[in-house]
Amino acid sequence: MSQDLAFAARLLLDAKRIMVFTGAGISTESGIPDFRGTDGIWTKFSPEDFMLDRYVADRAVRTRAWASRFPKMFGNAQPNDAHRAVVDLWEAGKLIGCVTQNIDGLHQAAGLPQHAVAELHGNADGIACLQCGAPHDPADIEQRWIEGDVDPRCDHCGGILKSTIVFFGEILPHSEVEQANRWAEEADAVVAVGSSLSVYPAAYVPLEIASRGNTFIIINKGPTDLDSVASIKLEGMAATLLPRLVDAITS
Ligand code: NAD
Repeated sequence: MSQDLAFAARLLLDAKRIMVFTGAGISTESGIPDFRGTDGIWTKFSPEDFMLDRYVADRAVRTRAWASRFPKMFGNAQPNDAHRAVVDLWEAGKLIGCVTQNIDGLHQAAGLPQHAVAELHGNADGIACLQCGAPHDPADIEQRWIEGDVDPRCDHCGGILKSTIVFFGEILPHSEVEQANRWAEEADAVVAVGSSLSVYPAAYVPLEIASRGNTFIIINKGPTDLDSVASIKLEGMAATLLPRLVDAITS
């Protein structure tokens, strides 16, 4: 074990309510690109297509959004060893909760219960009406889309439908933010994994825990905006480093 990893494990050993805070980098080894890398999402899609006002105003933007949503936004991506390590931490009774910026559902697919995850930026699984909020079955909407309805409307009020991913300019889901804040108040350590820690308000969550003097460990490939305030930064791949860290404190 490297010296840095051993040091991080010592810092975490006494913690009883660890929060894991994740970003797109935890899922790249599952084949889902992050935003800003060389294969990043922004090399294929325009960020402007993910702005709420443009989505509402422009049918062509909505049509492109549905074409990226169906058949399956993330193909057959499966959880990797980093997602599984978060489950191991939960099963060891050391995880207070996992706050994620990801929309891919891979924490739950790995076996983390839904009530142990706060999805700050929503989830690609759901579809709801922007006007009345009514949820719609994605399988039904996909069938309509296959049959040529490229701008599907709400069954109840005729409003614009949208995936439950949080777009730019959209308010974060209240219940998820509340849950993340509750965990942040109670956590006695935080491990941030695969996030540039540059997107706010999400990055306030680990900062809140660190600001009370608690252990703050970062696992990331490349620099993050909060490297200078971390107790220690572990540079490298999430699916290698997180399992080793979790192993060191649970076995
Ligand atoms: P980001 O793209 O800003 O940062 C990801 C970080 O992870 C980068 O620093 C990158 O170098 C690092 N990284 C990439 N692969 C890694 C690996 N295998 N191990 C360790 N580090 C790795 O992403 P972010 O911080 O999550 O914030 C931006 C937004 O990305 C969020 O709003 C989120 O909703 C969105 N997003 C989510 C997904 C997903 O659900 N999988 C994918 C793309 C973007």
